[in-house]
Amino acid sequence: MASSHTVLMRLVASAYSIAQKAGTIVRHVIAEGDLGIVEKTCATDLQTKADRLVQMSICSSLARKFPKLTIIGEEDLPPEDVDQELIEDGQWEEILKQPCPSQYTAIKEEDLVVWVDPLDGTKEYTEGLLDNVTVLIGIAYEGKAIAGVINQPYYNYQNNENQKLREPRNEAKAGPDAVLGRTIWGVLGLGAFGFQLKEVPAGKHIITTTRSHNSQLVTDCVAAMNPDDVLRVGGAGNKIIQLIEGKASAYVFASPGCKKWDTCAPEVILHAVGGKLTDIHGNALQYNKEVKHMNSAGVLATLRNYDYYASRVPESVK
Ligand code: AMP
Ligand code: MG
Ligand code: MG
Repeated sequence: MASSHTVLMRLVASAYSIAQKAGTIVRHVIAEGDLGIVEKTCATDLQTKADRLVQMSICSSLARKFPKLTIIGEEDLPPEDVDQELIEDGQWEEILKQPCPSQYTAIKEEDLVVWVDPLDGTKEYTEGLLDNVTVLIGIAYEGKAIAGVINQPYYNYQNNENQKLREPRNEAKAGPDAVLGRTIWGVLGLGAFGFQLKEVPAGKHIITTTRSHNSQLVTDCVAAMNPDDVLRVGGAGNKIIQLIEGKASAYVFASPGCKKWDTCAPEVILHAVGGKLTDIHGNALQYNKEVKHMNSAGVLATLRNYDYYASRVPESVK
């Protein structure tokens, strides 16, 4: 029987379950102890066993259910049969209860492009900064990021550091007694869910930026923002979470390095709650399947007061 739900909402509901499974794989690889680290282009551009297994899990699970999707994953992996254990077939029913925004009801599977970062913050993952890590599944239509899912496998990691870590039962729960890991999701026109929206106190300028991929351009641009504080943390997904949870006011990365799979899902979550993500010149990012993967002109993202930060990007950096 044909489903009464739209392709987009079925895809988001499936991506939610697939991202949760991804989170369990990320934790499992750490628990096993062998990260299987491979250098890609240099010592700060790494791939681990978790990056590989999660990409296989996400891409195969999506492709089985939605064979006409275009799926673009970060990792360059040899084609091989994927272990059935890596396949996630579920869909989160709570998402299917939500209405599909009217502008997306007619979307067909073949119209959608999915950008997958199986593990964002790999450098930090290898260094034990586990709460920096996210799994990103971004969904684009007509070149625009419209839906996204972020799993943070080690959410509550600090809280649980001295406790026995439990596998999540209810990932949406937060607070000191909460379980490990959570999943955030959003659709433009519907909203973003799985976290508590919070803003940085008015007038405070707290910049979040890279800790592993710094450059003179990044340093110059951050300094020009006249920041009260600068947070250097790993991961594009992690930095967007800092914006929506009131930890940082702007994500500034005036350098190439970050790719479409890093920004697609985080951009949706930020835009769904009224924020803005662009390149460092203020141009919107494009997510059609033919686009260049690299965000060559960097990233500027804020929850509020975008214009303040955009107006302070120095000409020398542009
Ligand atoms: P970061 O803020 O350094 O964690 O970077 C955010 C995302 O962009 C991560 O997925 C990084 O791997 C990626 N990235 C940023 N700069 C570079 C770079 N120079 N080389 C490779 N990946 C990068
Ligand atoms: Mg990444
Ligand atoms: Mg990655």
